[in-house]
Amino acid sequence: MSAAPAFDVIVIGSGIGGLVTATQLVAKGAKVLVLERYVIPGGSAGYFERAGYRFDVGASMIFGFGTQGTTNLLTRALDAVDVSLETIPDFVQIHYHLPNGLELKVHQDYKKFLQQLQLHFPHERQGIRQFYDECWKVFNCLNQMELLSLEEPRYLARVFFQHPLACLGLVKYLPQNAGDVARRYISDPQLLQFIDMECYCWSVVPADLTPMINAGMVFSDRHYGGINYPKGGVGQIAQKLVEGLEKAGGQIQYQARVTKILTESGRAVGVKLANGKVYRAKRIVSNSTRWDTFEKLLPADEMPVSEKQWQQRYQKSPSFLSLHLGVAAEVLPKGTECHHILLENWDKMADPEGTIFVSIPTLLDPELAPVGYDIIHAFTPSWVEDWQGFSPNEYEQKKETAAGRIIERLEKIFPGLDAGLDYMEIGTPKTHRRFLGREDGTYGPIPRRKLLGLLGMPFNRTAIPGLYCVGDGTFPGQGLNAVAFSGFACAHRVAVDLGLKS
Ligand SMILES: Cc1cc2nc3c(=O)[nH]c(=O)nc-3n(C[C@H](O)[C@H](O)[C@H](O)COP(=O)(O)OP(=O)(O)OC[C@H]3O[C@@H](n4cnc5c(N)ncnc54)[C@H](O)[C@@H]3O)c2cc1C
Repeated sequence: MSAAPAFDVIVIGSGIGGLVTATQLVAKGAKVLVLERYVIPGGSAGYFERAGYRFDVGASMIFGFGTQGTTNLLTRALDAVDVSLETIPDFVQIHYHLPNGLELKVHQDYKKFLQQLQLHFPHERQGIRQFYDECWKVFNCLNQMELLSLEEPRYLARVFFQHPLACLGLVKYLPQNAGDVARRYISDPQLLQFIDMECYCWSVVPADLTPMINAGMVFSDRHYGGINYPKGGVGQIAQKLVEGLEKAGGQIQYQARVTKILTESGRAVGVKLANGKVYRAKRIVSNSTRWDTFEKLLPADEMPVSEKQWQQRYQKSPSFLSLHLGVAAEVLPKGTECHHILLENWDKMADPEGTIFVSIPTLLDPELAPVGYDIIHAFTPSWVEDWQGFSPNEYEQKKETAAGRIIERLEKIFPGLDAGLDYMEIGTPKTHRRFLGREDGTYGPIPRRKLLGLLGMPFNRTAIPGLYCVGDGTFPGQGLNAVAFSGFACAHRVAVDLGLKS
């Protein structure tokens, strides 16, 4: 007979999805072990330090730090384990630099944002308001209910009795995509392209493939809870969650790469690490991507039918080519915003190296760089296949050439950038794969074709009893606040299954 498991729950990976699951579960009294392959927590919300700069690995436009409502999930996750973070409000979500001279800032003030957009498209005044107001309807429904597991019937019944109208509202939007709703009100092709970009910049697909539930969240919360940057860098979120986890009695191990999920009679019962160690638990949660979980940690040839079906609906999005730059502060004109999006040709929006995303977090927290310098993180979609099969020299050369192309384009919004460079680190999809442990360095799952909104996205339980998934491969998808939602839901479902207070 096997020994009794030492833990209630093992969480594979300490991305924000994994850490929210773990902290929620320790707060409910579970004995939790988090196993992280890298040397620090956070995954795509991690950081690294070079030459006096503290760079965010990925995320830097952070939702979920609001103080009201129920969608402020990062604030709530930290609260649950008695920790908190100072954040700095960012009053402009994005400064868009788009084709045909379309320059536009998304202000936190909703009216100001609408007025600006209406000024560019006066003939679509009414349609603009109707579309974004409809997004608010989705958000207002979500923002009144506690966001937990949609796989838990008693919770669903409770929420329905407490908020029947909000629930019916959400059910209506669940199968819809943002593009269909936009076209109901808007017909100007360039404005529809702008809505595509509004979706693409976080969902990496155009509006037709972006679920209305996610669009409703993002297009409204930026004006409600707002965008807030953690003081000390995005890495602080994971650091604080770990602090709370440990204070509440949970454990985390670094450089602990899980190579196998162990099953007995088809049930997940433990994990094996690269160093040969085995840990057992009553429940296993994987924060690794769905592809890594079902093709590497479990035998690919035994993949459950439901996963095969999911792979037929969703594919890996591209990864990114990332430039982490240290630049002389003079390069940035006074009044420069923190986040920018640059695209010169609408036809290239979703192409590799089409759209360039820019974050300048030092405009909010100057302490991330040496005095007199700023950080620019510029990234653009890129496929891993385009970086394979080169000698080390050729690879370095290719990186330099690609970085040169990006800097040349950025010179249009930041003249003198090249001359003002103090430091440059170039990350390719291979870098993302290596350091984030994500298959092909992918940003996450995207629909292969138009689906019914969010209906195709799996929740946390899997076809393997005892095994759950959390993070961007589960409802509701990518982004820190979204994976935090998935963490709340996962912990809730696991707690109910373990008979803990939920
Ligand atoms: C360049 C870039 C920019 C982004 N910008 C934003 C933004 O501005 N705003 C925003 O909200 N979101 C942004 N995102 C998306 C956001 O960062 C992710 O959606 C989110 O962080 C994913 O969290 P996760 O918990 O699902 O997984 P991950 O962050 O991938 O974490 C998974 C963790 O599991 C660990 N792990 C994996 N396999 C194993 C194993 N076998 N054993 C042990 N540990 C393992 C990994 O090391 C990692 O720490 C960005 C992402 C990128 C890449």
